[in-house]
This record gives sequence, structure tokens and C-alpha cells, in this order.
Amino acid sequence: MLDSVRVRLTVWYSAVLAVVLILVSATTYLIVRKASMQRTDTDLEGLSDSFLVTFQDELSDTPGTRTSAVSSAARQAMAEHRSNSDAFGVLGPGGEIVATSTEATSPGESSYSSLTRALTSSDFHRFVKTSQNKEVNLETIRGEHSRFRAYSRQFNANGQNYLLIILHSLHGQNEMLETIQLTFTWMILVGLLLAGTGGYFLARKSLAPVVAMGEHARRIGATNLHDRLPVLNANDELGQLATTFNDLLNRLDESFERQRRFVADASHELRTPLAILRGEAEVAMSQQGRKAEDYLESLGILHDETSRLIKIVEDLFTLTRADSGQYPLSPENVYLEELVADCAHSARTLAREKNIELSVDASSECLVHGDQALLRRMILNLVDNAIKYTADGGRVDIACRVAAAGFELHVTDTGPGIPPELHSRIFERFFRADPARSRSGREGGAGLGLSIALWIAEAHQGRLELVRSDATGSHFAVYLPGPVAALAGTD
Ligand code: ADP
Repeated sequence: MLDSVRVRLTVWYSAVLAVVLILVSATTYLIVRKASMQRTDTDLEGLSDSFLVTFQDELSDTPGTRTSAVSSAARQAMAEHRSNSDAFGVLGPGGEIVATSTEATSPGESSYSSLTRALTSSDFHRFVKTSQNKEVNLETIRGEHSRFRAYSRQFNANGQNYLLIILHSLHGQNEMLETIQLTFTWMILVGLLLAGTGGYFLARKSLAPVVAMGEHARRIGATNLHDRLPVLNANDELGQLATTFNDLLNRLDESFERQRRFVADASHELRTPLAILRGEAEVAMSQQGRKAEDYLESLGILHDETSRLIKIVEDLFTLTRADSGQYPLSPENVYLEELVADCAHSARTLAREKNIELSVDASSECLVHGDQALLRRMILNLVDNAIKYTADGGRVDIACRVAAAGFELHVTDTGPGIPPELHSRIFERFFRADPARSRSGREGGAGLGLSIALWIAEAHQGRLELVRSDATGSHFAVYLPGPVAALAGTD
């Protein structure tokens, strides 16, 4: 049950409210109790003053022996100040009882009889004892059923010291305090019940959009990834949560879409060489008594198409591993100028076949920290493209040099160039400026060479750019950082 945020919120809310209510009630109760006790004490003091004034008046009017005069004056004063909640006593200098109000009253008044019972309690006797040594004494004493406020005061009459004791019943005050206690208890219970119920519904109402969002999100899967959570108020916390979730869905959707396109393009690319392979094999098998040269020619086609297939599969494999960050780079010190010369050497046969003049300018030392195999692949892709797309008798220049921020590699050709509107798309996977031409014959590429070259440049913290491409030819440039910055964080 506590797994529900709603219930947890309600419990916390009610617990905090209970603590606050209990604290406020307890403090109020204590303040009221203290104030009422103070008022009782002040009343008792006033009562004693009034009693003694009456007593002195009576004494001056009373003839007779000392003690009997005092006793009679005290009784008179008691009779005058008699009330249901107060009892009086006057003790002589030796502690003997001179007068008590209990004698002067008729029994049968309940609060008064409980007062007289209090006079016999052990608490009262202790109070009398301590009062004999004090000018004024005030204590709360416990009777049989309720509590009393006891007041004592020394006074002088006829040259002798006497002790006036007034016992005030706290019954009325206790009743009032009990009523306050009961009222507070009910107030707390009803308040908690109302606040708890209200809190639960409030939490339910506030969390309802979260529950709705959860249900909506649960329905979103691979098939309806375009679906989005509704954003009721983009500025509140729930709106921001929904927006963040929608952004995540956007990224997932794009990634899914890229993957889908990649798989569809890859299957499409693989279909052509596979169809050629099957067609060629069927032709070879269907014709009985073919000449050895015919078989050799078929095998040659099968070989070329298989190589093309292998190249596409290798490129696809490279890109998928690069995407998932699983392509392990093996960085080492590489002399770029040597690598460029080496790649140019490999491409020379291809260039010669097309009567293309291949020039290399790699005289300055360019020590790069990078993955040699990948850097070679990047250079070969660029040089290969330059030769592939340049007409017979053209020219291809390769240059590598030291630059301010690192090293530069330039591949320039005198090919037909790429239409300006396609410049921004040539690094896309499977993109070909002229698909019909590329897919047929030896020049046929899958449109992955530049994507791979771009990834390799970026994996070396560098960049690959198409600097220029027009009717006079194309110019690609790779910028690699110096040995310090290169591959920082990749090994
Ligand atoms: P491909 O395998 O088709 O060569 P790339 O990714 O290497 O794939 O190149 C993508 C497209 O860019 C090519 O199909 C081609 O149309 C164009 N391209 C690349 N390099 C050149 C270049 N040097 N001259 C003209 N067009 C080029």
C-alpha cells in the first residue's frame, strides 16, 4: 500500500499535520492552565486580604479573652467569606486549631464536603507543616477525588502570630481544562480525518496526469513510435516531464528511422550483386557443352560480384560497429606522407588503366597518432573516388602537408564534379550523385565510401570536407589534429 506515491504523500502530510496540531493544542492547553492557576492564586491572595480586614474589624469589636476573641472573630470572617469552593482555617501559635470553616457549615453540599475531606489528607498535613515556617505559602494538594489550591499566610492578632489557611477547590478549573482537552482531541481527530481525506484526493488529482502519461507511454512501441505524450501546460513540472519524454521519443524515433533506412538501403544494395550472381550461375548451368572460355568468363563475373558483395558487407559491418562505438581503434605513430605515397602506389594501376596522371606531393614529415589501417582506408576511398569519377586522360593530385593546427590532406581531380545541390548530401550513407552509373560496371560503389572516410576523420578528432566541386573537378580535404590532440580520449 505504501508503494503508492498518493498514499505515501497522504501519510506524510497527515503525520506532519498531526505533529503541528498536537504541538499547538498542547501549547494552548498549557498556557490556559497556567493562566487559570495564576488567576486562582491572585484570587486567593485577594480573598485572604479581605478575610483579614473583616477579621480585624470583628476582633476590635469582640470583647473577651485573647484566644476566644480571635476564634470568634475568625468564625465571623469565615461566615462572611463562606463559599462552596473555599474552606478556611486559622491555627494558633502552637499549631492548634483556633477556627475552621468546616464547623460553620451545613453538611450535604458536595463540593464543600470534598473540601473537608481534603483537610484530612496527608498532603494537607504536610502543607500545614511547611506553612508554619513561611510568611506566605501556595501549593496544589491532592484530595480524594480532585485537587485543591492551598494558600497560607501568617498574621498577627493581639500580639500573637496566627496562620490563616485557605483551601480552594480546583474542581471547576479541572472541569474547564478537561473540556478543553476533549475539544482539542476531537479537533485533532476530525482535522486529521478531513485533511487526510482531502490530501489523498488532492494527491490523486495532482498525480492523475502522471498516471495518464504512464498509460500513454505504455502504449507507445516500435510500431507507433511517432505517437507523443500530450503536454497540457509546457511550463509546469509535469509539462516539462512530458516534453523531456517526447524529446527522448524523438531521438529514439530518429534513430529507429535511421536504422530502418540503413537496413532497407543495405538490402537493396545487396540485391543487385546477388541477382547477378544467381543469373550468371543459372546461365552457366543451363547451357550444356559450353566452351572453357565461356565458363571462365562466367567465373570472372561471379568473382567480381562476390568481391563487390564482400566490399559492401565489410563497409556495412564497419559502419554498424562505428555507430555502436564498438570499432576498436589501434592508435600508433603514423607517418602520413609515407601512407599517402603508399596509397598512391596502390592506386597507380587503376589510374594507368584510365590514362590518368597521378601526382603526389608528400615531402614534409607528418607524424600523426592514429589507426594506420583506418587512415589508409580513408585515403584510398578518396583517391579511389577521384580516379573512378575522373574521365580518361584526366588528372588526380594528392598532397599532404603540415598546417598550423595539425596536418592537411588534399585530393583534387579533374572529374565532372558533383552538382551543387547535392554537395550537402554526398556524405550520407548509400548516397550516389548518379546511381545508375555507380551501380553498373566496375565503378559501381554502394555509396558508403565517403561516409566511412568521414567517420574515420572524425574518429581521429579531424574533419573531412568537400572544398570545391564544379565542372573543372572536385577537391576533398582532410584536416587532422597534431599528435598531441589526435585521438585524445580514444585510446
Ligand atoms: P561510391 O561507392 O558510390 O563511390 P561514395 O560514398 O564514395 O560512394 O561517394 C558518394 C557519391 O559521391 C558517389 O556516388 C559520387 O556520385 C560522388 N563522388 C564522390 N567522390 C567524387 C569525385 N571525386 N568526383 C565526383 N563525384 C564524386
